[in-house]
Amino acid sequence: MPTIRFKALEASMSRSVREVEAPSDKISDYYGTNVFDRKAMAEYMPSDLYKTVINSIENGNRIERKLTGNVASAMKAWAMEKKVTHYTHWFQPLTGTTAEKHDAFFEPLNDNNVIERFDGSQLVQQEPDASSLPNGGIRNTFEARGYTAWDPSSPAFIIGKLLCIPTIYISYTGEALDYKTPLLKALNAVDKAAVDVCKYFDKNVKKVHATLGWEQEYFLIDKALFAARPDLVLTGRTVFGHSPAKGQELDDHYFGSIPDRAHAFMNELEIECMKLGIPVKTRHNEVAPNQFECAPVYEEANLAVDHNQLLMDIMGKVARKHNLRVVLHEKPFANVNGSGKHNNWSLSTDTGVNLLSPGKNPKSNLQFLAFLVNTIKAVHDYERLLRACIATAGNEHRLGANEAPPAIISVFIGAELTKMLDQLVKKVRDDKALTADEKTELKLNIGKIPEILLDNTDRNRTSPFAFTGNKFEFRAVGSTANCSSAMIVINSIVANQLKQFKKDVDNLIAKGDKKDDAIFKILKKYTIASKNIRFEGNGYGDEWVKEAEKRGLSHLRTSPQALKELGSKKALDLYESLGVMSNRETLARQEVANELYANLIRIESRVIGDLAKNHILPTALKYQNDLIANVSGLKSILTDKEFASAAKVQREMILEISKHVEIIKTTTEKMIEERKRINKLENPEERANEYCDKVKTMFDVIRYSVDKLELTIDDEIWPLPKYRELLFNH
Ligand code: ADP
Ligand code: MG
Repeated sequence: MPTIRFKALEASMSRSVREVEAPSDKISDYYGTNVFDRKAMAEYMPSDLYKTVINSIENGNRIERKLTGNVASAMKAWAMEKKVTHYTHWFQPLTGTTAEKHDAFFEPLNDNNVIERFDGSQLVQQEPDASSLPNGGIRNTFEARGYTAWDPSSPAFIIGKLLCIPTIYISYTGEALDYKTPLLKALNAVDKAAVDVCKYFDKNVKKVHATLGWEQEYFLIDKALFAARPDLVLTGRTVFGHSPAKGQELDDHYFGSIPDRAHAFMNELEIECMKLGIPVKTRHNEVAPNQFECAPVYEEANLAVDHNQLLMDIMGKVARKHNLRVVLHEKPFANVNGSGKHNNWSLSTDTGVNLLSPGKNPKSNLQFLAFLVNTIKAVHDYERLLRACIATAGNEHRLGANEAPPAIISVFIGAELTKMLDQLVKKVRDDKALTADEKTELKLNIGKIPEILLDNTDRNRTSPFAFTGNKFEFRAVGSTANCSSAMIVINSIVANQLKQFKKDVDNLIAKGDKKDDAIFKILKKYTIASKNIRFEGNGYGDEWVKEAEKRGLSHLRTSPQALKELGSKKALDLYESLGVMSNRETLARQEVANELYANLIRIESRVIGDLAKNHILPTALKYQNDLIANVSGLKSILTDKEFASAAKVQREMILEISKHVEIIKTTTEKMIEERKRINKLENPEERANEYCDKVKTMFDVIRYSVDKLELTIDDEIWPLPKYRELLFNH
C-alpha cells in the first residue's frame, strides 16, 4: 500500500547529485557575460553614444529619444550574437514577484519576408496587458492600460534566449504600480539630501548612492516530498506537521558541511548568478536543518534590488534541475527557524567615501557622526513606518518569535558608539561654542575606536536595526520580500531627516554659529531626542517588551495593525513632500498590502480546510476503524475480565481520535462560515483585520489536533510527509 508519502520518500532517497562544470575555472572569464554592461556597451556602441549613455546613467539624465534607436540596435546586436530570439520588459509589480511578457524580435514584412526588429520605441516603452496585476484601485478598468518604461540604471540581461530589460511599471495616468518607481525616487531624494549635507565636509561630493547588501535565507526541499505536501505547494508553508524528535537544538546544521545535493545546487546557482553579474560571494548552512543562506557583495541599491529579485527567480529554476524546490517563505515549518533577508544599508559618495564608516581623520569623523545620528533620528521618528514595510502574512510568523527581531523597532549601535554619543551630549553646550581642543577630542574619539570593536558590533543579533561597523543592518525583512519595500522607507526617512538637519544647521549658522559648532549642537539635540529608540540589550526578552512600552515605542504585533501606518498623515506627508509617492499612490499601496494579506490568509485557510477534510479526517477514521476492529476482535476471544484491561488503551485512543476529529471538523466549518462573512466585506483593510483576528486564530486550534493525530495514527497510513522527512532527508 505505498502511499504518496512513501513513494515520495523513495524517490527522494534515490536521487543522484547533478554536478555542473563552470564555463571556466576563473570566474572573471564568465562574470557578467549575460549582462549588457559597460564592457558590452562599449563594444557594441559608437563611442559618443556610449559616453552619452554612461553619462545619463551616472547622472540620472534622460536619454534623448532620438538616441534610443541606436541603443536598441546595439542591444539587439549583442543579444542576437548570444542566440537570443525574444525580449521582454522585466518589471516588479506589487505581487512581489517579477513580471515579463515575451515578444519575438522577428517581424513580418509586407512581401512575406521576415526580419528581426527591435527599435527604440520597443526598448523605451511597452504596454503590457497587465490588467490583473494589483493596483490598489489606481488603474480603473476602463483605463486598464499600464506602461512599462526602461530603467537605464539597471542593465539589460539575458536568461536563456530572452533579453530582459529592467523597467518601471506605471499607470496610464503616471502613477506607480510597482516597486521600482518609488524606489528610484527615494534613492534620488536621499542622493540630493545627502549631497547637501556632505558639502559641509567636502565640496567635491556630487553624488551619493545608497548601497544594499542583502542576505537571502531559504530552505531546500526534495521535489517529490514537496509535491506530496499540498500546503507547501499552494502556500509555501506547512500548515500541519508535528515537530520532529530532533529539531535544530543541537545546532549541528549551522555552518556545518553543506550536503552534497545542496552543494551542487549552490554551485550551479552561483555559475548562473555570475553570468548575470550578481556578485554572490557567501554561502553557508543556516540554523535550521535544510536551511541555507546566500549573500552577494553589496551594490548600488537599485541594482541590488533587481539582483535579489532575479536571484529568487533563478533559484527556483536551478533547484528544479536538481529535483529540489526552493522554499522562500518566512516560516515554512513551525517550531523551526524561519527565513529572513537582512538588508545591509549604507550611503556612499562618488568620491569613494562610505558615509557610515568612521573616518581616518577628525573631519570625516564628524561627517560619520552626522550620518549616524541622523539615521538613528530618522528611525526614531518613523519606527512605525519601518514596521509597516515588513508587514506581510508570512513575516508575521517570524517577528517576535524568538528567532527574528521583535515587532518592536529599535536601533543597536554597540557600547563604543553609545559612549561616544553620551560624550557628545555631555560636552556640547547650547550656549557656548566648543573650544578647539574639545572639538578635536570629540572628533578624534571616534577615530580611536579600534576597528575590531566596530566590526564586532553585530554580536547583538536580536536587534532589528543594528549598526555593524560600517553600515546598518535591517534584520526584520522577510525572506520573500522585494527589498524595495524596506529600501523605499529607509532612504526616504533618511532623506527627510538629512533635509531637516541641513535646515537646522544652516539656521544656527545664520544666527552666527561656526559650522562645526552648529553641527555639534544639532547632533546633540537629535541624540537626546532619539534616545528612546536605542536599545543595546536582548531584543528577544520579555523585559524588552515591557521596557519598550514604557518608552512609548510601538509594538504592532500583526500585519494589518502595522499597515495602518501607511494611511497616517505622517507617512503620506513624508512621501509626498519628498516626491516619492503621491497620497493616492501610498494609499493604493496600503490597499494592495491589505488585499494581499487577506488573500494569503484566505488561501491558507482553504488549504487547511481541504487537507483536514481530504487527508486528515479520512486517515483518522481509517485508523480508528482499525482500533475498533481490534477491540471487537478482542471482545470475541477474551473473557470479560481480560477484555476490560486488554482493550483499555485502544478505547482511550478511539475516544481521543473522536475528540480531535470533532475539533477539526467543527473548527473547520466555523472557519468556512467566517470566510463567507468576511469575503463580503467591501473594505480591504477591514477584510485584512477580520482575516487576522477571526480566521487566522483558528489555524492553531485545528493544527493542534491534527498534529496530535499525527502522533497517534499509524505511521504507515499518515498521508503527508513528516517534518523529519522533509527536513532531515538530503
Ligand atoms: P552577517 O554577519 O550578518 O552574516 P555578512 O558580513 O556575512 O553579515 O554580510 C554582510 C553583508 O553586508 C554583505 O552582503 C555585504 O555585502 C554587506 N555590506 C558590507 N558593506 C556594506 C555597505 N557599505 N553597504 C551595504 N552593504 C554592505
Ligand atoms: Mg546579517
